[in-house]
Order: sequence, then structure tokens, then C-alpha cells
Amino acid sequence: MHFPEIQCSIDDFRPAARVYLLTHFHTDHMRGLKKGRQRGRIVCSAETAALLAEINATPLDDIVILEKNHTASFTECGRRWTVTAHHANHCAGALMFLVETVDRRILFTGDFRLDDEIRATAAAIGPVDLLCVDCTYDRPQYRFPSQDVCIDRILDAVRVNPDKEIMIGIYSLGKEKILEALFRTFKQPIYMTKDEFRRYKAIGLDRLATQNRGATRFRAYAMGFFGKYFRANPDRSLVVIPTGWAVDRRNVPAGFLYVPYSEHCDYDELCEFKRIVKAGQVVPTETR
Ligand SMILES: [Zn+2]
Repeated sequence: MHFPEIQCSIDDFRPAARVYLLTHFHTDHMRGLKKGRQRGRIVCSAETAALLAEINATPLDDIVILEKNHTASFTECGRRWTVTAHHANHCAGALMFLVETVDRRILFTGDFRLDDEIRATAAAIGPVDLLCVDCTYDRPQYRFPSQDVCIDRILDAVRVNPDKEIMIGIYSLGKEKILEALFRTFKQPIYMTKDEFRRYKAIGLDRLATQNRGATRFRAYAMGFFGKYFRANPDRSLVVIPTGWAVDRRNVPAGFLYVPYSEHCDYDELCEFKRIVKAGQVVPTETR
């Protein structure tokens, strides 16, 4: 979303701007981002900054680190404006942004999953002129159990398969709460490939991970790995796919467990959030 009047672009590096706000380190929010130096400064959390530096070779002096509940101010084109970061309950380092100019208040959620902290924040923010909201699951068929219920379902499935290799679908970043729960419960790290390990190391979560396959029965792979060419062996392994899209899944293959664990709001949560934040205009930022 581009706001040329204040030289600001949010989760989109394609427009020319002097300030880029980046909610989190997922590629669909980083379109147009170049390796190395950018055209303008990037405002993000410390975790996202570490990933930008490690994975994208972004110079740290191009980055303004903004922690949640903190505000930064800028003056562009003679207009002063501020941005305040808020908790988003998505992947590690994810933020929402409240942008305030002299005549407009804009809340840009990025990807988020409603929780009590977000409810309180949304109530405190009050009415906004423009709400740019993550609408990934904005249809009534998408109703998910809580993340805790989904994690318990995964832990139970692991317990009843004590001799199997457990394979888990992850994104480049995200699903960290599941890996934390497995690590805490079964006292084994999660094997991951070099690229994934690098990301976890950058954000200080490498204690959960190992690159030694022999050290653990848990393996994390990108979701795409389990697509067309992967052949499950139900006698040897259990494949856990944690995603909100599990709701749409019919005919689950043997050896797979689809769990509707989501790091986005479900339909009811999205409706509730929009009731709390009264907005003059609502623009969806993510649709399938
Ligand atoms: Zn995301």
C-alpha cells in the first residue's frame, strides 16, 4: 500500500518511497525488495531487521528498528507523520502499524491472528479513517480452533506414534509455537535444512533446531516439499501439515495429519476485529 503524500509504502517495495514499513519477513509482503541497499529506509522489528541483514544483505544503516508500542516520526514533503508498532501474533517479529498524519489515521494490520493483546490494542486505538486488513480467511467456512487446541492435537498425534519419524510443514518463517511445543514436550530439536536453519539462527531460535538428522525424529520442511512428488510412508512417518487451509482438505492421504493451525484470523475473529476498530474505509490486503 503506497501513500505518496508522505513518501511511505507499506509491505511493498515496488513504489519509489523514502520510508518503507515492513510488517514481517514473508516474501508476499516484500515484493520489489532488492538485495543490499534500498531506495529508502526500512522500518521493522529487530527480528525482521536481523533477517533482512542475514538473508537479504540489507545494510543495517538502512533500517530503523521499531519495537512494539513504540512510535517513530518522520517529516516528508513538509508533512510530519508518525508510525506506532503493535503486536500482530503472526510469525516471529511480525508487527501491525498505526500511521498518523495531521488529517488521517491508518491502521495496517499486515498478517495477524486476533488475541487478547490485539483486542486491547484495537480498543485503545479507536476509530481510524482507513483500515488495511489481512483478509486471508474472510469467508464463513473458515472457523478454526485456537492455536493451543491445535498444538495439543499435534502433541497427541506424536505421542501415539512413538516410533515414527515426525515431519512438519513450515513456512520460511512461522509455526514457531509448534516447534517450541514439540521441543519442550519431547526434548528433541527439530531437524531443518541449511536455509531454514539460517533464518532460525538469525532470530535466536536455533536452540530449537539441528542440522543433524540422526539427533532427532522431528523434521521440518517447507510446505511445498510435501506437494506433488513426496511419497508418504505411513508405516515409517507421520506428516503434520498445520494450516488454515486444512479446512478445505478432503481425502487426506494415509500418513498425513492436517491441522487447522493458523497464524491468520479466522472468519469470526476478523468480524470481531472489524467491530472493535471502527473504520471509515476498509481495504483487504490479502485474498486468495
Ligand atoms: Zn505472513
